[in-house]
Amino acid sequence: MNTGSIRLFVESALEAGTEMPVSAGQAHYLGHVMRRRVGDPVVLFNGRDGEWLAEISQIKRDRAMVRVGERLREQSKPRPLTLAFAPLKRDATDLVVEKATELGATVIQPILTERSNTHRVNLERFRAIAIEAAEQCEGLDLPELREPVTLTRFLGDWPKDVPLAACWERTATAPIGGRASGLIVGPEGGFTDAELELMKRAPFVIPVSLGSRILRAETAAIAGLALLQSF
Ligand code: SAH
Repeated sequence: MNTGSIRLFVESALEAGTEMPVSAGQAHYLGHVMRRRVGDPVVLFNGRDGEWLAEISQIKRDRAMVRVGERLREQSKPRPLTLAFAPLKRDATDLVVEKATELGATVIQPILTERSNTHRVNLERFRAIAIEAAEQCEGLDLPELREPVTLTRFLGDWPKDVPLAACWERTATAPIGGRASGLIVGPEGGFTDAELELMKRAPFVIPVSLGSRILRAETAAIAGLALLQSF
């Protein structure tokens, strides 16, 4: 792929020769922000069909059409990596969704804990943030964005043979190892003792430390994912 190409996520199936509209926001970005014209290249992906070179076939105000050319990359299967986190205040939650997408989380799972800041999440908003992050980081996938579940339910549904790294400040001493396919981070107020007990009883949970400093929940999520992705 040409470095610096504009990458756009589209919903439609991608195959050579197809012409399709992009969203109003994407058209605005192409025409007004990036000053692109008819004939200019863009790169498209949809999370299913790989990555394709395309060109702008029409552009006018907030409407643009693109025509699909050749495939640049096959769709690849990413390594599974779930981020489970307690929804935070809006800006912090947005940051977590953006950075988790950049860092290759394949599932983003809000978890309801006793001290969660909020029990409401806006999955539409999550999706818009994830799309922008995926466009920028050259990823081929969007993470699966799940409805919130309770911690008990999350642990109950987790596959028993898949290690889950649980971030515990102060008590956990082991650093993150490379085996885990999931990361769970508590809310601003931390997990309660009862929640820690619940996790300790789950055989697949590996308590991990992110060092001696107490990190904000959003920092812990980002740092933990970065560490897991480094293996
Ligand atoms: N209010 C709590 C801190 C919560 S930090 C207190 O003062 O004790 C929010 C979450 O980030 C925690 O639940 C934990 O999952 C994670 N976290 C923060 N710092 C961490 C560290 N050093 N090691 C592991 N997890 C950490």
